[in-house]
Amino acid sequence: MEVREFPGPHAGTCQVVVEVAYCGVCGSDLHEYASQAPSMRGAGIFQPVMGHEFTGTILALGKGANGLSVGDPVVVHPGRPCGACYYCKAGATNLCAEQAGTGYREQGAYAERVVVHVKQALHLPDDSWLERAALTEPLGVAIHSLSRGDMNAGETVFIAGGGPIGLLTILAAKHKGAGRIIVSEPAESRRQLALKIGATEAVDPAKVASVQVRELTGGLGCDLAIECVGIAATMDDCLASTRRGGRIVVAGAFEQPYSVNLLNLLLQEHSIAGTFGYASEFQEARDLIVAGAVDVSSLISRVVSLHDLPSVFEQLTGDRNRDHKVLVAPNG
Ligand SMILES: [Zn+2]
Ligand SMILES: [Zn+2]
Repeated sequence: MEVREFPGPHAGTCQVVVEVAYCGVCGSDLHEYASQAPSMRGAGIFQPVMGHEFTGTILALGKGANGLSVGDPVVVHPGRPCGACYYCKAGATNLCAEQAGTGYREQGAYAERVVVHVKQALHLPDDSWLERAALTEPLGVAIHSLSRGDMNAGETVFIAGGGPIGLLTILAAKHKGAGRIIVSEPAESRRQLALKIGATEAVDPAKVASVQVRELTGGLGCDLAIECVGIAATMDDCLASTRRGGRIVVAGAFEQPYSVNLLNLLLQEHSIAGTFGYASEFQEARDLIVAGAVDVSSLISRVVSLHDLPSVFEQLTGDRNRDHKVLVAPNG
């Protein structure tokens, strides 16, 4: 990873140039950088610049880019579904196979400026939201995972992993009225933050998370478990923590296959669901942040420059527990 100079970019028809204010470093970018497993962004697609969790200010508008003005603060939806396929017509735009994405198939926001389709840019009330609204995208991911798990108010939710997605899932579950939120996380600092932002209990998985979840729920187990790490140990914890008839959502990116004993699934009537991105939940996340209904500010652990980014990627891939959400401010 290195910083390079490029000319432009310029806004084409229905496009806008966004001057990037803040762009979050995502776990999926770290995977892309460090993983030996096949690329999540599609084998063979050259990806020049990552960065898909971002806000900024409109710098220029192309022909037909209506609804925005120069200077408007915006948060950008990195996906651009085709709008015409089976999934798009059904409202499941996250499953669109033709999805072009900023920071995926197209140049992302680890850059001073980025071009996006005008429809990707959503208004923010004013500049004061630029920093917090950079967490809109991962909050959308967290909300979608709860939708996939059919979370009902009052339920006990077990969240395996207190990284950025686990922590945002706590905020989302609390907002949606979870009765009890139990988090498992090995890092003490993250357990403390989890408790501060709304977890009812935070347990150390070294002491067998599922045993603790069972104890805390009088033997019953949780109604819903969300796996936010992507390794066998935490998936084991989720399966063993969930009551009969309960649901397990896979939100972590697994680099290795995982075996499930389907007889247990049958006997316990467990449902396992995958979750990928978000559909309408992106706008919902933006609305919750700017309404002050979900406060993501304590998750932002530091803001770095574009020139710091290569070393930050080295640090974060070497020690994922070191930070919560790191933001890049390419123009700051
Ligand atoms: Zn992301
Ligand atoms: Zn589509």
